[in-house]
Amino acid sequence: MKFKKDAIKIIEILKKYYPDATCSLDFTTPFEILVSVMLSAQCTDERVNKTTPELFKKYNTPETVAKADIREIENIVHPCGFYKNKAKNMIACSKMLIEKFNGIVPDNMEDLQSLPGVGRKSANVIMLEAFHNPQGIAVDTHAKRISNKIGFSKEVDPEKIEQDLLKVFPKEYYYDVNHLLVWHGRKTCNARKPNCKECPVNEYCDEYNKKNRHLNIPVLFILYVFGFYYFKSL
Ligand code: SF4
Repeated sequence: MKFKKDAIKIIEILKKYYPDATCSLDFTTPFEILVSVMLSAQCTDERVNKTTPELFKKYNTPETVAKADIREIENIVHPCGFYKNKAKNMIACSKMLIEKFNGIVPDNMEDLQSLPGVGRKSANVIMLEAFHNPQGIAVDTHAKRISNKIGFSKEVDPEKIEQDLLKVFPKEYYYDVNHLLVWHGRKTCNARKPNCKECPVNEYCDEYNKKNRHLNIPVLFILYVFGFYYFKSL
């Protein structure tokens, strides 16, 4: 695991490298980000942003979604995948918001996680984006991959990775860490082809250093042999 000092340095570097890093889901209200986050499970933010304008034209409040015909919601959210489950959760969540929370999206982790279709990762995103009060770090596929590669965490379970991240990042960094890990994963530390040469934090990355160390061993060996025979011939 990284030391706090290095972890903060990495985030400071990434912050300069991606000065525009922010949420890439489009929304205007807490309810809209809640729905967008639900739709973004196993789907790109880009696809969600193409789907929500039509959805929010008619269904942008718990009241309208709770009364909706599930088949109509399914048809609209179909491009986001898992549409049956997502439509079902949207309606169940809207009904609970009306029954338990007066139709208002709650602004705390516990209540958010009690809503159908909202897990810890989604609750983290909602606290961050809707209420500007991050309570943790949302570990999505990018945050998970980068945490393992850089060495923030050796865990595979997102909640355990989050706990490791919370040990090294003070609360004032939560906002940036949430956005920067996602941006770095999309723009440089790509899952299929990470651009390690151009990566601004490669000197801090465990995986990069491990690979380079292995590469350097044959080079050092050749230099050693060459030097040995050179000096022997003098
Ligand atoms: S050096 Fe490579 S693997 Fe490490 S964080 Fe950068 S892009 Fe990812």
